[in-house]
Amino acid sequence: MIEYTHESQYKNFEVYIMSDSPRSSKSRKVLIEGSARHVHLKREDVEALFGNGYTLRKKRDLLQPGEFLTEEKVAVTGPRGTVERVSVLGPERKASQAEVSMTDARALGLAAPVRLSGDVAGSAPVRLTGPAGSVELAEGCIVAKRHLHITPADAEAFGIDGRETVRIKVGGERGLVFEEVAVRVSENFFTEVHLDYDEMNAAGLSGEVYGEIL
Ligand SMILES: [Zn+2]
Repeated sequence: MIEYTHESQYKNFEVYIMSDSPRSSKSRKVLIEGSARHVHLKREDVEALFGNGYTLRKKRDLLQPGEFLTEEKVAVTGPRGTVERVSVLGPERKASQAEVSMTDARALGLAAPVRLSGDVAGSAPVRLTGPAGSVELAEGCIVAKRHLHITPADAEAFGIDGRETVRIKVGGERGLVFEEVAVRVSENFFTEVHLDYDEMNAAGLSGEVYGEIL
């Protein structure tokens, strides 16, 4: 069994304030935020895990409008182990899913595919456990594909409209270029890159960090 500290879960959801907007700059500098392991739940599974009629309690808004960290935690279990106290993000979704790092997936014994959130067809089976019970997801465990959330205006300003992927360069002593960063465009997004913590750590990134779209 693997245990992760409460503290590390919080650290991963720090909200960063942009000091200068990419809109005002000719550079293609973009905020990078680490996404910790988390789950999304459908209504039925919220009730199975936390009790009939239960409503997720908002702890903090995330940078993406409408998305929030809740007070709730679940255990995520695979054939080889369990990760305790995994954050639940709101709002509820149509299908439950667990997004873990590749390191987590190996420790859990799951062959979780690299996918964008929501693309769970044929992904790894996983068990979620809350205070009121467990649910077995026949599919739903993925490793989040690295991606750029961007508004149409920023995509135009950055000259990347219509591109499906971009490359993002980060500096520092473990600086590197992230290839194959999926571009997700919506009016409703806040422009930022989402990496998981395997990727953040590989590049030695923490705190408020920016990358450059190449
Ligand atoms: Zn994202």
